[in-house]
Amino acid sequence: MGAVVREGVIEMAKTCIVCGNPAGSKEHVFPAALGGRRTNSGIYCTTHDNSHSGLVGAIAGQIDFINAYLGVRPDHSDAIKTVHANDPLTGEPITISAEEIKFQQSRVLSQTPVEGGGIAMQVASPDRRAAKEWTAEMERQGYTVAFQSQPTEDRYMLGAVHHRRAFGGTCGLGAVAYIVQTFFAQEFPDVARSGALSGFIAYTQAVAKVAILGGCTRIDGERPELVEARAILAAALAGTGCSAPANWDFTRMAGAAPNAFEFGHRVIVGVDGSDGTMYGRLSLFSAFDFAVCLGTAPPGKETREVTIDIDPLAEHPPQDIRKVTAHTASSRVDASQLGGDALAKAIADGTQQQVLHTLLERLTDYQLARLVRTMVASLAPLPTLQALDRRALIAQSLDEQSQQVWRAVTYMIGGFKQQLIAGGAERVAPVLDMLVAHDVRSASGLSREAQAMLSLAKAALADQMERDFAAGALDEQRIADLMGRGPGLHIVGSAVLEPLLQAFDRNT
Ligand SMILES: [Zn+2]
Repeated sequence: MGAVVREGVIEMAKTCIVCGNPAGSKEHVFPAALGGRRTNSGIYCTTHDNSHSGLVGAIAGQIDFINAYLGVRPDHSDAIKTVHANDPLTGEPITISAEEIKFQQSRVLSQTPVEGGGIAMQVASPDRRAAKEWTAEMERQGYTVAFQSQPTEDRYMLGAVHHRRAFGGTCGLGAVAYIVQTFFAQEFPDVARSGALSGFIAYTQAVAKVAILGGCTRIDGERPELVEARAILAAALAGTGCSAPANWDFTRMAGAAPNAFEFGHRVIVGVDGSDGTMYGRLSLFSAFDFAVCLGTAPPGKETREVTIDIDPLAEHPPQDIRKVTAHTASSRVDASQLGGDALAKAIADGTQQQVLHTLLERLTDYQLARLVRTMVASLAPLPTLQALDRRALIAQSLDEQSQQVWRAVTYMIGGFKQQLIAGGAERVAPVLDMLVAHDVRSASGLSREAQAMLSLAKAALADQMERDFAAGALDEQRIADLMGRGPGLHIVGSAVLEPLLQAFDRNT
């Protein structure tokens, strides 16, 4: 390690913590894919920064749906995070982001031969560009395309898209270890280069290699390079001196300060000088917690712990990070704490489901707050309008939130169906299913009956909003109540269930 004299200040040349060669790549201290904005050029050489790409990809893929719902922008990109999934109904590819859900291609809804030759088609396109592309493609195929009507805008109502992401596993925990290792090297540069971290680094390098070779999930008959990489990983694990270098942690630390940011990530790295324990913790979205055992530091180190909160929603520094240093080891992780299958235990006793449930509730609240801001902005001209125009503006604003209203409709009808089944009236259940049935051949994705339910719900909400506005009560709080909480659900429920209850009454 050489010393460089610059402007009279002596600073140590920065070397790669893996190989000792000069460090210089501009690596992200926290992966950009998870909302990290800061770069650092003093931890890895280019080769060893790139060596972790498989791990970063693995963890980014595991939590991409959360990033997409939150609207996290990956660094150097103006596009917010999107997730590709298949529409459960049509099986066609769709793109989901915090802003919208759309099909990636135009869909032909219906085609009917017409007299005198030709085919009348109804086509739904995700946007104007896709519509133009579709027209161009048809013309390339030799068709003449003539439009018979102005395009209409319909919002496609999505059925439930299920995200099945295996979270954690060899690569997920490897990525956790890598993130903590990078922060540790940043905060404890001399310890990281003292050799004390070499067992841990051998582990992260080995798991990174497995990830790059595509070995995050084990399959039968793996190729020889992968088999060898796994053997190296097993040996490296044994060499860390921990039963597991990184593991899930479901023991919420008592007395820990809340994260500085909503959905903030937190990294804690520390050295306990009393026995040299080097440790780390990682919390993603303030929901998923991990503990990391990095080994033992050389004797004579002072006790120090650094807590870094990261805002995945921040657009750029400096408001993206809050860092606190303490001279205690209050978040210390003991090697003995990390053994065993913490995740399996948490799944068995329901802790893991609770963690997910809490996160989804927070995401729902966050989405509702975002929706309310949009509606408040679109309803801002209300006081300047005449009654008729007011009604039109409210209707338009509700149309823009059709997906949310549809969610309320299906929630209420689904709940009513459960009640009927519980009350022994399961023969009526198919009628309720019909009321919320999808239809792939319609532009909205809804059957005629379902479309009618959605219209009833929107009209009832619009009525209420008009009355609330007249009473001077249509504020942010009220819009949130109407769009995503009990009062709105009650109004939607009455609107869609009332005609049904009357029908039942007539038939009994
Ligand atoms: Zn290197």
